[in-house]
Amino acid sequence: MAFYVYENWTHDRARVHVGSCGYCNDGRGTQAGDSGRNGQWHGPYDDRQAAVAVAEKLGRADTKLCGTCAP
Ligand SMILES: [Zn+2]
Repeated sequence: MAFYVYENWTHDRARVHVGSCGYCNDGRGTQAGDSGRNGQWHGPYDDRQAAVAVAEKLGRADTKLCGTCAP
């Protein structure tokens, strides 16, 4: 299983996702609304711990696991 981190600069947040999550699509994101201007994907990472560590290191005000895929 692959894990990804989405960093959103506009909303100052980071979310950890599983690659198969509908919001993640293996790091491609959703087609609508993800123009690349609001943030960027990090990953893939082989394990959840690594992805969480990266997310925390980004230092965003709001850092969580995705509530939809619950990695
Ligand atoms: Zn997700």
